[in-house]
Amino acid sequence: MRGVVMHAPGDVRVQDLDDPRIIEPTDAIIRVTATCVCGSDLWPYRGVEEVHEQPMGHEYVGVVEQVGSEVKIIKPGQFVVGTFVAADGTCEICRSGYPSSCVHRVFVGQVGTQSERARIPWADGTLVATPGTPEPDLIPSLLAASDVLGTGWFGAVGAEAGPGKTVAVVGDGAVGLLAVLAAKQLGAERIIAMSRHEARQKLAIEFGATDIVTERGDEGVAKIKELTGGLGAHSVVEAVGTQESMRQAIGSARPGGHVCFVGVNHDVNLSGEDLFFAQVHLLGGPAPVHRFLPELIQLIWDRKIDPGKVFDLQLPLEEAADAYKAMDERRAIKVLLTI
Ligand SMILES: [Zn+2]
Repeated sequence: MRGVVMHAPGDVRVQDLDDPRIIEPTDAIIRVTATCVCGSDLWPYRGVEEVHEQPMGHEYVGVVEQVGSEVKIIKPGQFVVGTFVAADGTCEICRSGYPSSCVHRVFVGQVGTQSERARIPWADGTLVATPGTPEPDLIPSLLAASDVLGTGWFGAVGAEAGPGKTVAVVGDGAVGLLAVLAAKQLGAERIIAMSRHEARQKLAIEFGATDIVTERGDEGVAKIKELTGGLGAHSVVEAVGTQESMRQAIGSARPGGHVCFVGVNHDVNLSGEDLFFAQVHLLGGPAPVHRFLPELIQLIWDRKIDPGKVFDLQLPLEEAADAYKAMDERRAIKVLLTI
């Protein structure tokens, strides 16, 4: 089969790979219908994370071809949306709603899904079948549910977005934009998107943002305070993962407010003293997307949300190197790869 391998930072190639096969009895093999490049794939691409001949990709939708002998729920022939952390679905952590920290978790990025086929560990705890074969125009939105929508949703839920709340979203990548959509769906009263990029501001407004803040860092915090009567937002979603964005997120929350940080953190150091006096609730980590998938799939199936709009470029798998380049240069918010 053909698949994407990152040989070194900036060196993405599409090449022949061995077809995956069932290794564990809990595995499934899927034929990938669509996959995409994640903002987190840019960390190794830019040399921030080490990388050497790594098969890439952890977002995917497709059709189940084969399942192992211990797979009970997922069946061959089903169209499935999968999450980026494979989880057994049965341990105490999974049952408490945190499958992304499952005691048996496997990061799907280690397996790779930017390829024609993929082996998905723990199929029953990782994949969710759609009600039927989707119309082609639903594929981008279902693919978004695999990670960026699920992660944005977790950000909004973790920040306790809801009726009567003011929600601030730090980060205007796909996750941040979909956190705006999630906050809207959860009934937030006011949604402040922090973005200085015109196309992204437009999409944020389309997804439900009521205010746009272009300032960053301390100025961004001051602007949020100004918009909230000096208090700060009730709920803040952090969707970048840098020192500046984390400080901006915590600073933008009011005392007693909730911050959910879903951007993969890199070299973030927080002062214990600042945290102490911020007096905010903090929750973060890899999003437990599987918890939300049934609800998200139904919302997409019923055409109540259209998160697939974050894909502003579509390329065939063979042109994956261009997809990485377009995202690295911020020419595209998110690139869908067709198989
Ligand atoms: Zn588990």
